[in-house]
Amino acid sequence: MTTSATAAGSAAVPILSHWIDNRPVEVPLEGTAPVYNPATGQVIGRVPRGGAPAVDAAVGAARAAFPRWRDTSLIARSHILFAYRELAWRRREDLAALITRDHGKAFPDALAEVERGLETVEFACGLPVHLAGLNTPNVSTKVDAYTLRQPLGVAVGITPFNFPSMVPMWIYPIAIACGNTFILKPSSHTPGATQLQAELWAEAGLPDGVFNVVYGGRDAVNALLEHPGVDAIQFVGSTPVGRHVYETATRNGKRVGAYTGAKNAMVVLPDADMDLVADSVVAAGYGSAGERCMAQTLVVAVGDTADRMLPLVKERIAGLKIGPGMEEGVDMGPIYSAEHRASIIEWIDKGVAEGADLVVDGRPFRHPQHPAGFFLGVTLFDHLTPGMEIYKEEIFGPVLGIVRAATFDEALALVNGHQYANGTAIFTNDGGAARRFQLEVEVPMIGINIPIPVPAGYLSFGGAKKSAFGDLKMRGEDGIRFFTREKEVTARWPEPGKRGPLSLVFPSND
Ligand code: NAD
Repeated sequence: MTTSATAAGSAAVPILSHWIDNRPVEVPLEGTAPVYNPATGQVIGRVPRGGAPAVDAAVGAARAAFPRWRDTSLIARSHILFAYRELAWRRREDLAALITRDHGKAFPDALAEVERGLETVEFACGLPVHLAGLNTPNVSTKVDAYTLRQPLGVAVGITPFNFPSMVPMWIYPIAIACGNTFILKPSSHTPGATQLQAELWAEAGLPDGVFNVVYGGRDAVNALLEHPGVDAIQFVGSTPVGRHVYETATRNGKRVGAYTGAKNAMVVLPDADMDLVADSVVAAGYGSAGERCMAQTLVVAVGDTADRMLPLVKERIAGLKIGPGMEEGVDMGPIYSAEHRASIIEWIDKGVAEGADLVVDGRPFRHPQHPAGFFLGVTLFDHLTPGMEIYKEEIFGPVLGIVRAATFDEALALVNGHQYANGTAIFTNDGGAARRFQLEVEVPMIGINIPIPVPAGYLSFGGAKKSAFGDLKMRGEDGIRFFTREKEVTARWPEPGKRGPLSLVFPSND
């Protein structure tokens, strides 16, 4: 852990500081929160419980830096983004190791997260093209019309524990490329990779105050939502917090996008390749211990597919290696916190009480060498029904449920009837069925024989219904629109001596 201080006393653990103006900044009289290694259950560091004073300091720095960054040429901004991309790429294994240490996910998965995040940094490097406007000469006689895309000011990213590198990288490169200054408020559970990203920005030559980090929970977030110096916020996290962020910040006149919880369903048609289905179900349900917003945690099995798939899925589950994420060959790491592990167990208890058929029970699993780690085995339910709470609600853990449907139409209706709409997938060899699915499904991110359909880093990302609040998605073209304000200019440059007569008539386009 990169540190600015260590705790006083004997068993000193590293303490992080906020990051403002390209350096660690301590705010007096703030408490700290523990950071755990979920594989061992031990406290490995502490982060500030930031609030209004830390937010004030970060907003002050970001506002002061804004005019100069706004006026920095596009090519100079682009060079800094390229430099950041190169540094982060070179340090990708260090970033991944920090993610695994704080979050618990398997190291190859953490490395893939960093690489997927960097795709959006690469997209942002092309900012001179993305920020080009329209220009239409002679829309009226000797009158030209054109558009300008300009930054908003101070932009904020509030991010979740589960992707400490990728999700911030879906937000800050675009905000910064567009000429905004930026404050990241990451999850306090997984701060290690955040701190390294901040240091890499400084090394890349980003001017002071353009990228800042404030740690903290509710107090820090509420201070950002209320602060008059903040212009725009992208939030990624759970639905109740996202709704609060959206409602409060829009009421305070800010531009807001909130990308929230999910319960994604994968439809399996009888003609699908069942080995591919079994691989995909296990990878999408249990990868990263189910702590992904694009995890497929419901399998809508059409016709006889549930019975054909079950033995294949159980066989794969039996072969999974659960252990510390840095250990060679581990498929699934621990749950990120003890509290979250307890909440997942409560959900499994509830599923049993609701009458779902418990096929594989992950609750008894203990890691022999790490009994204090937050490990949990994988759970598989069959015969879920839409009335059950475990069908309706997000669990965000390694708990997969099969719901059976008689026909394609019934399966489509189940997916469309769900309260969440983030990602979905269909497994089939029938092109007509896949085509109809993509046209009629009310979920914006769709996989066809792809279990986790996260769009490529240069495309937009975002859900619908209870999975998103706001009009624009993250990243891609929507990301550029989100972090800029468009101006429309209508210009006339009369020729010398040909001004024309005074007229009070509303200008016409002749
Ligand atoms: P969370 O909502 O608990 O936290 C998200 C952020 O909000 C963190 O920075 C946290 O410090 C802050 N926060 C937490 N409680 C708060 C409160 N009461 N008031 C103000 N701020 C608060 O989410 P999490 O547990 O870190 O992440 C998991 C959730 O994120 C899941 O619901 C998952 O589906 C969602 N997620 C969504 C996407 C997406 O793109 N839709 C991507 C990743 C994760």
